Amino acid sequence: MKVGVLALQGDFEAHAAALRRARPRVEIVEVRQSHHLEGLAGLIIPGGESTTMLKLMEYYGLFESLRAFGARKPVFGTCAGAILLATEVLNPAQASLGLVDLTVERNAYGRQLDSRVVRLSTHELGGDAELEAVLIRAPIIRRVGAGGRVLVRYQNDPVLVEIGGHLVATFHPELSPDPRVHERFLSRLEP
Ligand code: GLN
Repeated sequence: MKVGVLALQGDFEAHAAALRRARPRVEIVEVRQSHHLEGLAGLIIPGGESTTMLKLMEYYGLFESLRAFGARKPVFGTCAGAILLATEVLNPAQASLGLVDLTVERNAYGRQLDSRVVRLSTHELGGDAELEAVLIRAPIIRRVGAGGRVLVRYQNDPVLVEIGGHLVATFHPELSPDPRVHERFLSRLEP
């Protein structure tokens, strides 16, 4: 099975490593051009800086092909990737792929609290162990559209949501050793 990681900017290499930890035999494709999307079972859009990634997507002519890909196949967006997937972006408003019906507010934890590591309870990911969540200048999901399923919350706000066949995290599961979030995404892909 081939899984893509959008490799324009941000921590795409950490996602590739996390995918390998979760499933050593998965084939990973770094996506920088539209034709790299061919034959992929799913795609990860990493964390980084969503404004920069948006500009690079437009520069490399990827915006429309990513939208078309996400209309057919599962996409997993983390942090900046979550911002790029949401239908509505606040603080400030910004264009996005609009593939998942969410409202996200960028940099929503405030300056002094903008990065932290927390441990969260979840019963949705298999096992009762707490999930480590690394939040780096993270957005907050302010609204989850119809059919969205919140898998993990932090301070009562959703931080991991399954919606419309896609997966969205406001934290960075690729920076923690726990493979459960990547496993969850991989388990939904069809080769
Ligand atoms: N603050 C970044 C943004 O708004 C996201 C940060 C991240 O991906 N860790 O795009």
